Amino acid sequence: MAKTFRNYIGGEWVAPRNGAYFDNRNPARTDDLIGRFPDSDASDLEVAVRSAKRGFAVWSRTPAPVRGDVLRRVGDLLVERKEAVADAMTREMGKVLAETRGDVQEGIDTAYYAATEGRRLFGHTVPSELQSKWAMSFRRPIGVVGLITPFNFPMAIPTWKTFPALLCGNAVILKPSEDVPHTAHLLVEILLEAGLPPEVVQLVHGRGETVGKALVEHPEVPVISFTGSTETGSIIGETCGRMHKRLSLEMGGKNAQIVLDDADLDLALEGVLWGAFGTTGQRCTATSRLVLQRGIHDTFLARLADRAKAMRLGDGRVEGTDVGPLIHDASRAKVESYIEIGRGEGAELVCGGARPSGEALSHGHYFEPTIFAGVRPGMRLEQEEIFGPVLSVLRVDTADEAFTINNDVRYGLSSSLYTRDLNLAFRAMQELDNGITYVNAPTIGAEAHLPFGGVKQTGNGHREGGWEVYEFYSETKVGYVDYSGTLQRAQIDNYLGTPD
Ligand code: NAD
Repeated sequence: MAKTFRNYIGGEWVAPRNGAYFDNRNPARTDDLIGRFPDSDASDLEVAVRSAKRGFAVWSRTPAPVRGDVLRRVGDLLVERKEAVADAMTREMGKVLAETRGDVQEGIDTAYYAATEGRRLFGHTVPSELQSKWAMSFRRPIGVVGLITPFNFPMAIPTWKTFPALLCGNAVILKPSEDVPHTAHLLVEILLEAGLPPEVVQLVHGRGETVGKALVEHPEVPVISFTGSTETGSIIGETCGRMHKRLSLEMGGKNAQIVLDDADLDLALEGVLWGAFGTTGQRCTATSRLVLQRGIHDTFLARLADRAKAMRLGDGRVEGTDVGPLIHDASRAKVESYIEIGRGEGAELVCGGARPSGEALSHGHYFEPTIFAGVRPGMRLEQEEIFGPVLSVLRVDTADEAFTINNDVRYGLSSSLYTRDLNLAFRAMQELDNGITYVNAPTIGAEAHLPFGGVKQTGNGHREGGWEVYEFYSETKVGYVDYSGTLQRAQIDNYLGTPD
């Protein structure tokens, strides 16, 4: 019988108060039940907030370098368990093992980066405009932080949020995607084993519309960090705006790879296959538009179609699989609806466009790598996030035309340009309207020590990762120390030319 998992609230593993559970199944083989997870509600969340406040009282007073030491041990445990965790993630989420290993590695990198940040967390000391006075800024923890995460990076994204939030001295309530609760369970086990005091982290499983909503609406959770769809982000943004909460949003993408006539085509081909069909197209940074210059369009498209047709669909845990299943049947139905939309808009289906045939793949949510050519700017196929293995190919005459196409969507996460023209590459980094531009590399491949995020409706100006995320999870406080022994009035007393 499948295992029944629990929430982690109040320093112990507990059943949901309403006694309700949901099933977590392997998307490659839906008869494989991974476990039953709590379908929690607002009452569980209420207990979690009260506990997290006690955790905050302890943790916020723990010196930052000591907090960093805990995160270093978290990194060590992730290293030890990398293979087992990656295997559990592929079973739960579907992407191939090489990718779930990378997902865990991103958690490891994030842990070690956070550990060192415990000895920085820089403030500034600056000159005062008055005499015998010091002026400085420093960082303070904020309080209880609510983290809401999506399914596609089951380890990396929870670690991007949890580790810097903890390093800054906050207590954390994690509400993971209901599609990947097991990975979150494994992460919290590791945090506790590494020595995190029990009430500093709370894990509350359940649906977004119930427990996620309760977390966002809770008045004693002043910080929310969300990664997921733009639609959900809008709902969360409204609530947080009304309640004056600090909010970080990382949302959808419609990322383009541009290949110009002078590009290294072999390199560009490998890049687009990895960008478009890796993680079965379920990456916020997935390449979903390919913009080809006229001179290379036909030959490149033909080579790409041959390679896409040869990709092996299958269980991500089986050696040799290139493309795993989609996360669930509803997302496959969404992809199928876009096949109809694309046909209706007059795009030419070059390959894929259907579920694979045969008994072997009939028990999972598989869909063939799909390419549409003849896509024109403004089509829904070209504008909307599909979140599946569907690539739209557009033809252009000039680099300027390609840049315009890249920028004319509501999203702005990542972009990619393949060219040998160095001047154009630097121009692209300025002019492409995205949070990240890759030159001669696909639209994916972020590194944990650089800021990650997008512009326009992909984000709201904050960044995950790198040094910037530490600004989000801490409050800047300023201290002035006047040791002159007199009343000194800023902006009024003028010391020009006066000796001390
Ligand atoms: P989703 O929006 O359906 O769900 C994300 C999370 O929000 C889940 O934990 C869900 O339970 C929760 N949620 C849903 N409704 C909620 C509500 N009303 N209140 C509070 N929480 C709620 O997204 P998904 O399908 O899990 O992930 C795919 C989406 O995530 C894509 O749009 C993708 O582009 C985006 N994404 C963005 C980034 C990025 O960094 N920009 C990274 C990964 C994924």
